[in-house]
Amino acid sequence: MKGKLLVIGFGPGSEEHITKRARTALQESDMIIGYKTYVDLIEGLLNGQEIISTGMTEEVSRAQEAVRQAELGKKVAVISSGDAGVYGMAGLVYEVLVEKGWKQDTGVEVEVIPGISAINSCASLLGAPVMHDACTISLSDHLTPWSLIEQRIEAAAQADFVIALYNPMSGRRTRQIVEAQRILLKYRSPETPVGLVKSAYRDRQSITRTTLEDMMNHEIGMLTTVLIGNSSTFYYDDLMITPRGYQRKYTLSQKEQPLKPHQRLKKEAEPWALEQVTNTSSRAIADEALQLILGENTKQTEYIQQPIQSIFEVSVSPGVANKKFTPKQMMTLAEIVGEDGSMEYTQDHHIKLQVPTTNPDQVVAELEKVGFLLAPVGDVLTLKACDFCEGEKKDSIPYAESLQARLGGMELPKEMKIGFNGCGMACFGAVREDIGIVFRKGAFDLFLGGKTIGRNAHSGQIVAEGISPDEIVELVDRIVQEYKEKGHPNERFHKFFKRVKNVCGFEFQDVSPSLKIELAPCGD
Ligand code: SF4
Repeated sequence: MKGKLLVIGFGPGSEEHITKRARTALQESDMIIGYKTYVDLIEGLLNGQEIISTGMTEEVSRAQEAVRQAELGKKVAVISSGDAGVYGMAGLVYEVLVEKGWKQDTGVEVEVIPGISAINSCASLLGAPVMHDACTISLSDHLTPWSLIEQRIEAAAQADFVIALYNPMSGRRTRQIVEAQRILLKYRSPETPVGLVKSAYRDRQSITRTTLEDMMNHEIGMLTTVLIGNSSTFYYDDLMITPRGYQRKYTLSQKEQPLKPHQRLKKEAEPWALEQVTNTSSRAIADEALQLILGENTKQTEYIQQPIQSIFEVSVSPGVANKKFTPKQMMTLAEIVGEDGSMEYTQDHHIKLQVPTTNPDQVVAELEKVGFLLAPVGDVLTLKACDFCEGEKKDSIPYAESLQARLGGMELPKEMKIGFNGCGMACFGAVREDIGIVFRKGAFDLFLGGKTIGRNAHSGQIVAEGISPDEIVELVDRIVQEYKEKGHPNERFHKFFKRVKNVCGFEFQDVSPSLKIELAPCGD
C-alpha cells in the first residue's frame, strides 16, 4: 500500500490561525515529523500520532525520513511553521523524491497544505504594509551565497518593492542585517517605515514600529521578521500603511484625491502603463534591476528616493474677466503638457490640464509665472464670469474678482458654479448656473438653483434684485458656506435648495418646467 506525504504549513503558531485542512491533515496522519519547537506548537491538536522531532539544521534528514516512512505505507505529516512552500519543507521533500526518481503517477502521494506565511501574519499586526508589490528575502547565508542575497536586496530596493526580510539575525549572523540596511538606505528615505515583528501570534509576540534609519537601535533576532515599506508607505496612528496606488491624482486644493470609479482603468489616468510609456525611464530602472540580479552590473548607485509620478490636474484661465491668452501662455501650456499630458477647453472658459509629473509645485510656479489664474478641478467652486464686453463694462469686475479670491476653488459637496455677468444682457448665461449674479443699474440681481444640463434644464429662481455692491460678496459667501455645511455629499446646489427650502432667508420656489412628453406621431 502506498503511503502519503502531507506537507503542512501550520501558520504563525496560534491555533486560531491554522487552516481547517491543516488540522484534519494532522489528525489523519500516522506520524508527525518536524523541528522540535514546531512539534511543541501543534502538539495539542494531535491524537496519539508517532512523533519524530529533530533539531533545527536537520531538515534534510527529516525529509528523507518522511519519504522513507511514506514509502513504507504510512501517512506522514511533515510540518513547517508559516507556509510549507515559503522557506518551508515542501521544496526539500520534493528534492528528496526527485533524487529517488519519484513520479506523481506511480510514487507516494504528496499533498502540500498552505499556511499563513510570516509576511502575511506580521503585516496584519502592523497595519497594511503589503498592499503593493512585495518580496521576501531571507538573510540567511548558510545555503545561499551572500553575494546573491546582496544583489537581490539591491534590486528589490531599487525597484521599490515592499520587502519582508526573513531570518534577519542570529547569534552568529549579525552583519547581514546591517549590510541590508546600508543597501536599502541608498535607495530609500531614512524615514521609510519599518516594522519589526517577533513571534507573531505566539506567546512572546512583540511589535516595534521604527524607521529604516533607526531600525538597528531595536532588538532583532532569529524570530523577528523585518517589514520595510516602499516609498509610499506611511504611518498613521501607529499603523503602517502602503497605499494601493489609486490616489495618484492630485489637484490644486486637495493635495491627494482618489480616482473616482469611472476614472480608473482609463488610459489618461495611467500614463505609466507599458503601452503608454514613451520615455524609457521606468524600463531603464527595470533593466538595471535585472542586470543587478544577473550580476552584469554591480555599479554602486547614489542614494535616490524613487520619485512618485502623479497626474496633476489643474484648470487655468487668463483671468476672471480676461478671456485672451497670450502667445507666451500658449507656449508654456504646450511645454508643460508635452506629449504625455492633455489639455481640454471647458465650458467655463478655462483650460483643464492633466500633467503627469513628480513635482506639481513646479508646474504651478511655471503657470503662475506667465500670469495664469489657477483653479482646482473637482468638487469645487468655479467662478464663471463674462468678459465684461472686453472690459468696457468694467464696473462690476472688482466684485467678481473678490468672489474669485474668497471662494474660488473652495471644496464643496459637489461642483458648484457661480455665473457672473456684467450687465442685464446676461449673455454669458449667468442665470442658468447654481448661483447667478447679474449687475444691472449699479446693483446686483441674484438667482439661485439654476440647472444647466438635462432635459429639465432651467434658469435659477430670482431671489433678490437691487442688492447693493457692498453686500453682494458677503451674501454669496454666506449662501456658499451654508451649502458647504449642510449639503449632502454629491448633492448639487439646486437639489440642496429644493430639499432645505430656505437658504440664507431665501425661500425655494419650484421654477423647473413641468415636462409634458408628446407621443410620437406613430403612437409608439
Ligand atoms: S453680460 Fe453684459 S457685460 Fe457681460 S459680456 Fe454680455 S453684454 Fe457684456
